[in-house]
Amino acid sequence: MRIGAANPLDSGSRRKDAFMQGFMCSDGSAMRIVDIEALMPAAPARSSWLVAERMASPMSAYPEYAETRSSWQGMVPRTVVRVTTDEGIVGIGVGGGGVPSCHIIEHHLKPLLLDRDPRDTELLWDLMFRATLPYGRKGLPIMAVSAIDNALWDIKGRAAELPVYVLLGGKSKGPSHKPPRVQLYASGNRTDAYPSLGFSRNKVFMRYGPHDGPEGVRKNEAQVAAARQALGPDRLLMVDAWMGWDVPYAIAMAERLRQYDIYWLEEPLLPDDYDGYATLRRRLPWLRIACGEHEYTRYGFHELIQRGCADVLQPDLAWCGGISEARRIAAMAETHGLQVIPHIGGALSYAFVTAHAVCPMAEFIFGSGDGTAIAPIHPFFEGEPLPERGEVVLPNTPGWGLDLSPEATFTRPHPT
Ligand SMILES: [Mg+2]
Repeated sequence: MRIGAANPLDSGSRRKDAFMQGFMCSDGSAMRIVDIEALMPAAPARSSWLVAERMASPMSAYPEYAETRSSWQGMVPRTVVRVTTDEGIVGIGVGGGGVPSCHIIEHHLKPLLLDRDPRDTELLWDLMFRATLPYGRKGLPIMAVSAIDNALWDIKGRAAELPVYVLLGGKSKGPSHKPPRVQLYASGNRTDAYPSLGFSRNKVFMRYGPHDGPEGVRKNEAQVAAARQALGPDRLLMVDAWMGWDVPYAIAMAERLRQYDIYWLEEPLLPDDYDGYATLRRRLPWLRIACGEHEYTRYGFHELIQRGCADVLQPDLAWCGGISEARRIAAMAETHGLQVIPHIGGALSYAFVTAHAVCPMAEFIFGSGDGTAIAPIHPFFEGEPLPERGEVVLPNTPGWGLDLSPEATFTRPHPT
């Protein structure tokens, strides 16, 4: 496991100065944002079964796009934002939305934030959200906001010389005198490989949906049966349909899979089908429904909660509005007795799960190669803790504990 190297700009004395200044006054003069760069990372190429193998999806209705995600999924990869302050502290954050998101960050959000104190995360989030409302609210603009917000939290941590999870409230579970440990579940279809890697929980991705007829139903069931067999009894097995089903199919499939003791059914419907999710939850009271990776902001999650759509909420911390918004989502979820398990995994997710009692575990997606290799979720960073025996141990590194990987290359598509 590699721990992120110290930022070369972060000399010890400078950080102490920043700490003293930063927490003695917050009038906007102690620290200023002097630059924001939106970067597109290109890590060494790695193949992924996620885009090469068949998977149920919202495009499954169209035969020409039903076989692989790579046949239709546009380029909306993760973006990285670097925020530089006049104190020399540089924060990095991950967001989404690819090149269009970089344009929003550099040309719209950056002018709003320059010269402001990066630690005023509530104010800056509100400015970004309100300014993008005419074309925003969900999707790309909120992914852009997320990237900046996450970088601002990195600055707060580096300035205070504390990991972000400490700023978020500290450890919410585990013994206080030991480093935080986060329990993980394995996302991937190679169930036979995960128990020997220490994972006792697995989520598999369904390959077929309503357009594949009875044969698809049988194949889905065979996949889940094989996964349960490989995992053994009493271990959590989850099923993800990635927006590829509809209400009748989800009910029929869930009834058929009930004998395999499914812990949750994830995202069977289109994200906007709030009524459909509520119907599933009413009709399948013995099954948890999980969704939210394609939902945005407190307002979107409020809709999911109020309409009774889910038992488990899965905000993506690089898409949903960033850490500031995810905190609000977690608070709402907790008051309604729901769990929050962020989408995908990675350093931000592990810090967030550490700090929130409403988050029992984190996801770790086996996203590279054939789905059996443990590799960083975000390969363009260095410092991301990697799973050992089905859990990660968080380092005591300030901020997110991440730096840009020297093995990755970064371009800046819309420099300002
Ligand atoms: Mg999912």
